[in-house]
Amino acid sequence: MEIEKAGELDLCFGVKRAIKLLKRAADKYGEIETLGPVAHNRQLVQGLAKTGIKPVDELEQVQGKILAITTHGVSPMVLSEIEARHIHIIDTTCPIVRRAQNAAKKLAEAGFDVIVFGEGEHPEVKGLLGWAKGKGVAALDVKQIGTSPLLATRKRSNLCRLGIISQTTQSQSAFVKFITQLIAASFSVIASEAKQSPRELRIINTLCQRTQRRREAAIKLARKTQLMIVVGGHDSANAKHLVEACSPIVEAHLVEGASEVDDSWLIGKYHIGITAGTSTPNEAIEGVVTKLKSLV
Ligand code: SF4
Repeated sequence: MEIEKAGELDLCFGVKRAIKLLKRAADKYGEIETLGPVAHNRQLVQGLAKTGIKPVDELEQVQGKILAITTHGVSPMVLSEIEARHIHIIDTTCPIVRRAQNAAKKLAEAGFDVIVFGEGEHPEVKGLLGWAKGKGVAALDVKQIGTSPLLATRKRSNLCRLGIISQTTQSQSAFVKFITQLIAASFSVIASEAKQSPRELRIINTLCQRTQRRREAAIKLARKTQLMIVVGGHDSANAKHLVEACSPIVEAHLVEGASEVDDSWLIGKYHIGITAGTSTPNEAIEGVVTKLKSLV
């Protein structure tokens, strides 16, 4: 049985940068807290906890005076709340997420309603909506937009200027499909209710190219193999997208670590591909490889 790893398997640049900043801060201040997990990967979070970097779920739970913002970023309202509590901020927001936040802010300031193609409950998307200054709505399906209270108000006031950005880790093909459907909808559903003229769609590509490259490498490998194993957190958006990208091509499973590999998946397989989410530590990937080798 051949076990082959996809390209682009390392921790992504944003996560590596965040870990470096956090470790430097922990060396300087001792224990620090992070607002939410540093990244959606349990092993990574547990590893950092051993060096004094621990997550809290809510601002109310913060006990110390040093708090780190994670790679996903936060809204300006949350930043203000932290500052009001006189807590020192270590900001590890990924620069690519920061670029998306700036896009949301600029669109809102220019009078656009902002549509974020993404999961409304994801911390990055919540932050982006905050930067859109109350003029944003998150959606993964164009139908959700037509029913959004925000846009219903705009339709009544005959204002229909839409800015479109994406959660950084969404897939390029899904974003393109969403935009295509939205353009069609803007000429039918939205436009027919607006009964007016000033109408503009502005699209800003806020996707993370590193995530795209990782997805492309996984798809390339999936085409050669009979089984793809994605190593990553069960709540990691980009790890789940890797499974979605490989599944139409070949059997694919998401595992957080070696213990989740099911022997029955290997029956009759002679070429197995491995890929991993952007925040998966190398030890977790190697653990899965070792387990697979032991099952041959
Ligand atoms: S996946 Fe991309 S956007 Fe997200 S932290 Fe990594 S580099 Fe930044």
